[in-house]
Amino acid sequence: MTRTLLRGRTLSFTRRPEDVDDLAACRFEEDGGILIENGKIKAAGGFAEIVAAAPDAPVIDHRPHLIMPGFIDAHAHFVQMQVLASFGTELLDWLNRYTFPEETRFQDAQHGRRIARLFLDELIRQGTTTVAAYCSVHKSSAEALFAEAEARNMLIIAGKVMMDRNAPQALRDTPQSSYDDTEALIAEWHGRGRGLYAVTPRFAITSSPEQMEIAQALMRAHPDLHMQTHLSENHAEIAFTQELYPWARDYTDVYERYGLLGPKSLFGHCIHLSAREADALSSSRSVAVFCPTSNLFLGSGLYPYQEMRRRAHPVRTATATDVGGGTNYSMLRTMDEAYKVIALRGEKLDPLGSFWQLTRGNAEALSIADRVGTLEAGRDADLVVLDANATPAMKVRMERIATLAEELFLLQTAGDDRAVAETYVAGRAAKSALTDA
Ligand SMILES: [Zn+2]
Repeated sequence: MTRTLLRGRTLSFTRRPEDVDDLAACRFEEDGGILIENGKIKAAGGFAEIVAAAPDAPVIDHRPHLIMPGFIDAHAHFVQMQVLASFGTELLDWLNRYTFPEETRFQDAQHGRRIARLFLDELIRQGTTTVAAYCSVHKSSAEALFAEAEARNMLIIAGKVMMDRNAPQALRDTPQSSYDDTEALIAEWHGRGRGLYAVTPRFAITSSPEQMEIAQALMRAHPDLHMQTHLSENHAEIAFTQELYPWARDYTDVYERYGLLGPKSLFGHCIHLSAREADALSSSRSVAVFCPTSNLFLGSGLYPYQEMRRRAHPVRTATATDVGGGTNYSMLRTMDEAYKVIALRGEKLDPLGSFWQLTRGNAEALSIADRVGTLEAGRDADLVVLDANATPAMKVRMERIATLAEELFLLQTAGDDRAVAETYVAGRAAKSALTDA
């Protein structure tokens, strides 16, 4: 049995905070303790109380840093590390000019293994302990990511993309091969270690109706799986989808007709939905995934975060980087840009709500809140240790900061990987173990 007792200022959420003063939604300990046993949180609370119950556990003292549940990134493309920061295009051109050529390189399994390793290294550097990731069309790319996550004992959700049209020949599967490859990957990787498989039709444009039926058949055969795809990111994409599926009432209807809406269905972007589409997501408890750095970078639009939350039939929302359309691996940078997108719509996102979203909120949206996202006993010990004094500029700003909410807002507004002092994955200090840390 391995036991560790972390000491620090601990913060986790019991529910979504209503506003910046809603400290009742927080569980905060100025001198907190988290007892970790065999990769799981055994107990958390005031340090004095926890140490009294485990006096012999070795203590790692992170004071005065904040210890929180690890960040969760609900949508990223691990195969796009070498696409990030590609100049001058909107979605469909960006895919054709940069992304598709890059993804063809993943026919080389060795390349896939290298990028999978670098990708998970980068997430750990940024304090992200769980990601819902898209692989390339190649089965080997998914094998590489799952194997790399298993070696680190990381909880990931991932799938090979299914795409059989409107892409270069080298990136196309077929309905049958996408079925066979997906079934084989589910059998091999779903539930192995902490890996979870997601059926991943890239989006309606790159899947034929026959392949959409295959996705439907896979979800029928495995109703406990996640499904992830893209929806309503950009006007040209929406128009092209309507051309390809002329019978559909709207873009969402395409996925609806193939039975792909549901509580474990993750729809990237959802920026330009009609009221009917938002109602369809709401009634099926589907999740919209807000990717602010990507939406700004590609000029796609401003996701109506607060409107989705407030409507009579609210839409569940997660947040994500969408690397490589997204421009940063950091969920702190992501929430900073989320704040600005929401501000451009004339609203605000308070810092308590923001850090709830990054942790428990995204865990709930991904239906993994029974495993991660809080500091409750029994959860997996995936944690991030944050230092609000990480840079000289943050340090001088901290001199004027009096409250926890202000500190969180500084971390989000000015923080990046330098503010991540440590990342724990299943109880193991993972950031300091990186070779270049
Ligand atoms: Zn994406």
